[in-house]
Amino acid sequence: MNTEIDRQRLINTITGQLESDLFLGGVWLPIGRIGKVQAMGKEKMTTDSKTTQETKNSVEQAGIIEEKRQRLSKVGQAVAQCTKCPLHKQRTNTVPGEGNPDARIMFVGEAPGQTEDEQARPFVGQAGKLLTKIIEAMGLDRRDVFIGNILKCRPPGNRDPQTSEIVQCVDFLCEQLQIIEPEIIVALGAHAARTLLESSDSIGELRGRVHEYRPHPLAEPIKLIATYHPAYLLRNYSKDTRMRVWQDMQKVLTELGLPIPKKE
Ligand code: SF4
Repeated sequence: MNTEIDRQRLINTITGQLESDLFLGGVWLPIGRIGKVQAMGKEKMTTDSKTTQETKNSVEQAGIIEEKRQRLSKVGQAVAQCTKCPLHKQRTNTVPGEGNPDARIMFVGEAPGQTEDEQARPFVGQAGKLLTKIIEAMGLDRRDVFIGNILKCRPPGNRDPQTSEIVQCVDFLCEQLQIIEPEIIVALGAHAARTLLESSDSIGELRGRVHEYRPHPLAEPIKLIATYHPAYLLRNYSKDTRMRVWQDMQKVLTELGLPIPKKE
């Protein structure tokens, strides 16, 4: 009888302890696993805190990107209404540029061509397809970068931009650069490179080194690498020219601390 009472007391004690442990959020486990359970709990707590911080950071980042997107959209609206130079008379569409509002790389050409004017998108003709291939060879996607031009309207017959047109239009590009804040600008071709660097040197002289560009005198300098325009590359599709462009893109990746994909 006594044995039965003792057994019942023991059961009540253990049950009470288990209920108390569970109420306090604990779990009863053999002593040999307690250390591991505590370690997991700490690890989980650290991971949870990290996840919370990461979530906060990504929410803040998404807000910044959205704000940049809206500011770029306003620039696009201003470009669409622009009549500052005679190019507005013949355009089908304005081509303000497109891409990641928070891009680390901004590609800048000289002006839209016929296909770009028709589609209101930059670099979508044959030269654009080659630029896309170059971006992909860098291990990136067009959506990772921002692509634009110095001029936002097509010069008739795809002629070279005139200085007066550049002077009227370049403020839009400066505004885009101040919004996106890229770490590096890739100037495509002589017109873009000379305009941004205020130089009269040839593209052959300007490529191959890292320059600096300031959207306005008090702005932080942005690294700039000049290379051949994809349209020039199409016209001179030699192994030597391709190699030079690839060398320039390798320099861009190195400046950004990105890996250089192996050429197949
Ligand atoms: Fe305006 Fe530039 Fe178009 Fe000229 S090229 S009309 S300055 S947006």
